[in-house]
Amino acid sequence: MRKERIREVNGKGERPGDFVLYWMQAAVRAEDNLALDFAASLADEKGLPLVALFCLVPGFPSASREHYRYLIGGLREAEFELAGKGIRLLVARSTPEKAIAALAPRAALVVADCGYARIQREWLNRASAAADCRFVRVEGNVVVPAAEASDKEEWSAYTLRRRIMPQLDAFLDQSAEAVPRRSSLSLDLPREFAVDFDGLAAAPPGKRHPRSAETRIDEKPGRRTAVARFDAFLAEKLQRYGSDRNDPSRDGTSGMSAALHFGHVSPIALVRRALEFAGERSAGACASPELAAFIEELVVRRELAVNFVAHRDDYDSYGAVPDWARRTLAEGSAHRREALYRFEDFENAATHDPYWNAAQDQMVITGRMHGYMRMYWGKQILAWSASPEEAFATAVALNDRYSLDGRDPNGYAGVAWCFGKHDRPWTGRPVFGTVRYMNANGLKRKFDADAYVRSIEALKEASCSTTLNTSRSTETARRTTSKSTRSRPAASASAPSLS
Ligand SMILES: Cc1cc2nc3c(=O)[nH]c(=O)nc-3n(C[C@H](O)[C@H](O)[C@H](O)COP(=O)(O)OP(=O)(O)OC[C@H]3O[C@@H](n4cnc5c(N)ncnc54)[C@H](O)[C@@H]3O)c2cc1C
Repeated sequence: MRKERIREVNGKGERPGDFVLYWMQAAVRAEDNLALDFAASLADEKGLPLVALFCLVPGFPSASREHYRYLIGGLREAEFELAGKGIRLLVARSTPEKAIAALAPRAALVVADCGYARIQREWLNRASAAADCRFVRVEGNVVVPAAEASDKEEWSAYTLRRRIMPQLDAFLDQSAEAVPRRSSLSLDLPREFAVDFDGLAAAPPGKRHPRSAETRIDEKPGRRTAVARFDAFLAEKLQRYGSDRNDPSRDGTSGMSAALHFGHVSPIALVRRALEFAGERSAGACASPELAAFIEELVVRRELAVNFVAHRDDYDSYGAVPDWARRTLAEGSAHRREALYRFEDFENAATHDPYWNAAQDQMVITGRMHGYMRMYWGKQILAWSASPEEAFATAVALNDRYSLDGRDPNGYAGVAWCFGKHDRPWTGRPVFGTVRYMNANGLKRKFDADAYVRSIEALKEASCSTTLNTSRSTETARRTTSKSTRSRPAASASAPSLS
């Protein structure tokens, strides 16, 4: 493994112990896991068994029961696969700081994998301070480690691409799939860390959001399912990825975002698999434009989002939008809006726009929204909110609540992009100023937007028929909200309205 992935976190030394502790926080998988490999190699070096720990913290910001259900499914599979390698998985129902403080006195050292969200960075700082032994972090959920990719916040995909692409092939480390020589399965470990997966799956922690009852997520969690889905994508869709990925009426993308978010798959392993499938040798210089387009999303765009989140603490608020965009949006705020909606109107898909409503319903029901519709969805929240600040908060909150892959650097960068982040100024428009604009006519030119609406209507009907009672009351609420929305006045009458 490349040494650039490894960082000493707390400057403390190793010591004799009963085991090496691997804190699994962002890479919930027993294969293609470089942090696990590193921990296993150190355990063997010291002649110790390896114990893994996951902290299932209830009340993770915005996380719903559906998020926890998916997380728990992946964790259950990881436990099974780790046990096959003689590695015991402990699950703490407390903060990493508390769990690691409880276990670290028996550990020779702690190895952690790496997440980039604020809460994950805080956990790492607190947990490493609480451990009275060496604490190492291994970055295996990105292809190019964040600090190697760039030591500053990048302006755009263009500026990051120039840094990442020349390094790409050198960072496609193959996992050693190490199996520690000594098993930890029969170690005497605190009973409080034993986990009842059946109990957890039956009553997962997590919030019930106003439309949670309508959610019917059919995506199965776990590494094995995700890898099978990825192989099907390679076989059936990669050859048309460049043209199909922006067409919501085609299911032309990989569907990997939730599995990547929960750490069930490794982006490095996905790139390696895609190269092997396509018979290509270099990810940095692909002959196939389709594969190059896919690597652009999976590596450049995804790691641009990591760069964004790693370099600023305000990534989930309007302050993260660049100055030029905030200036032009402030001027645009004085313009009359085509419509004005409150948070609940957006949440209930009660706007005048059938395409926007379909996208919102798709997200609520399936936990997914097509990437092209996500851009339209975010742009229209900006167009129909009282202020860009309010719009930003609405988009973040809804995406985090209802998207299975939400609460991810990609989500924060995606929302910020709708407000001008990682983009450039375009021709001026009312409300948007020079921030890039999208409208329904653009959708209709690009694909059969009405067929998309019909497909979501069908999905809603199917979902409603399984929960008749719940959906009846929701519909009533939506009709009420919808009426109140239409009677609301627009923000200002002085400036031109959107065509
Ligand atoms: C308003 C808005 C909100 C978004 N919210 C999220 C979110 O919460 N979580 C999330 O993972 N992505 C988010 N995205 C980015 C993108 O839409 C999704 O990653 C993509 O649609 C996921 O589908 P897929 O896995 O089939 O993608 P594919 O097209 O198959 O791409 C493969 C992988 O590349 C990465 N990727 C693709 N597009 C982007 C992108 N534009 N930016 C960064 N990474 C990308 C993802 O990890 C994705 O799984 C958002 C975009 C916007 C505009």
